[in-house]
Amino acid sequence: MRLFDTLTRRESELKPVDGSTFRFYCCGPTVYGPAHIGNFRTFVLQDVFRRALETGGMRTFHVRNITDVDDKTIRDSQAAGLPLATFTAQWRDRFHADCEALNCLPPHVEPGAVDHIPQQIAMIERLVEKGNAYVSEDGSVYFRISSFPDYGKLSHLDTRELSLGKTQETRSSADEYAKDSLADFVLWKSRRPEDGENFWSSPWGEGRPGWHLECSAMIEEYLGDSFDLHSGGEDLVFPHHENEIAQSRCACGGDFAAHWFHPSHLLVDGGKMSKSLGNLYTLDDLAAKGFTAMEVRYVLIGAHYRKQLNFTLDSLNGAREALAKLAKGARGLAERAGEGHVLGEADFGSFQSAWEALNDDLNTPGCLGGIFTGLRECAGLEGEEAAKALAGLNRVLRAIGLILPEDSASAEVPAEIQALADERWEARTSKDWAKSDAMRDQLAELGWAVKDSPEGYELNPS
Ligand code: AMP
Ligand code: ZN
Repeated sequence: MRLFDTLTRRESELKPVDGSTFRFYCCGPTVYGPAHIGNFRTFVLQDVFRRALETGGMRTFHVRNITDVDDKTIRDSQAAGLPLATFTAQWRDRFHADCEALNCLPPHVEPGAVDHIPQQIAMIERLVEKGNAYVSEDGSVYFRISSFPDYGKLSHLDTRELSLGKTQETRSSADEYAKDSLADFVLWKSRRPEDGENFWSSPWGEGRPGWHLECSAMIEEYLGDSFDLHSGGEDLVFPHHENEIAQSRCACGGDFAAHWFHPSHLLVDGGKMSKSLGNLYTLDDLAAKGFTAMEVRYVLIGAHYRKQLNFTLDSLNGAREALAKLAKGARGLAERAGEGHVLGEADFGSFQSAWEALNDDLNTPGCLGGIFTGLRECAGLEGEEAAKALAGLNRVLRAIGLILPEDSASAEVPAEIQALADERWEARTSKDWAKSDAMRDQLAELGWAVKDSPEGYELNPS
């Protein structure tokens, strides 16, 4: 596969450093609430990336962390009146359930920051010893960015900004900060009253690690000092990934990541998603509107990862139609294949161009287009030829993680679900919106999505 690299700004062929297994790291979720569909754009594209490598015959080793201690998790666990571990566990479980619904493969290792405090402290000790970090008056420890000449290379910060940072020696103790506040960043935060019970002892007194450090420490533990690829959404290029590179290269030596993969953001209605604008969607929000996780996945892979994707609710209707067409095409092939069968691993046949698009800088829209073209080409195939084409289609569908919907006429609705849906429809026709909304949520929890139209409603497994 050829893939664009954020650092060199060029496409290059991906090959495992160790010659056998492609080892890669993705920054995982911060578990303080449900992940939104923007987060899932990044996670789904990382999943397609992995599936495509594996479909091409490469072995992979996928590490993705869970951020379970930072400014936001501590703040919100306290607002909820729960111990940090209890609070983050519930959101981690919800994240896993959403990933499963979206058909994302679980990573091979999924370490959490709280379980790796000693590794983080050990890394800071090395950075202090080597002169890359210093202890401040209050017992916090900062990384000195002027000690690492390559600082800013990944994000292509211009030299003016860099020299400004070097001369001023400004510091930032927040986990997240903007590009215009280039600063020495915090590795260890000395204990503050607002941290509550969330502190650990260290050579510099009680406190907790800064957010950027956890990935460097867990990467060293599970991938060593040199590995194949690192990924996160485009917002992580600066400062998070820049800081990871500085910490890891100074503490461990080695090359760190050979390749950087940064999917662009999902926008909603042309702008940023935010709670206050009421346009921040989770999978549950969309299920309540009658949309399935597979329809969401289809929309998320419908644009090239290097372009921002503008999400609209209407795009989910388009995804439903497209999935129904694909399912019809696949059913037609299966019927025409009859007793035909394929021996051994199928090639891609009519779906070769779809497969090639995926290997050309992960061109997912090109791949979807290629699938539709392939289906048109196979329209006249029968018997063994149809069976071969079907095997090629299934192989490329597995590579993008799409599961096609069952024929909706054949999906059996259990009697109790049907009864609930009928009761909801009655509530809706008598304009009892509160009851109708509550019952839609209840059905969604039971795994059924309701979609209303002027003529009636549709009920589909979600
Ligand atoms: P977080 O839980 O905030 O640490 O983010 C988890 C992942 O989602 C990171 O890789 C982020 O870069 C990514 N992300 C956050 N917002 C968006 C968005 N609107 N579109 C795509 N990816 C996003
Ligand atoms: Zn990270």
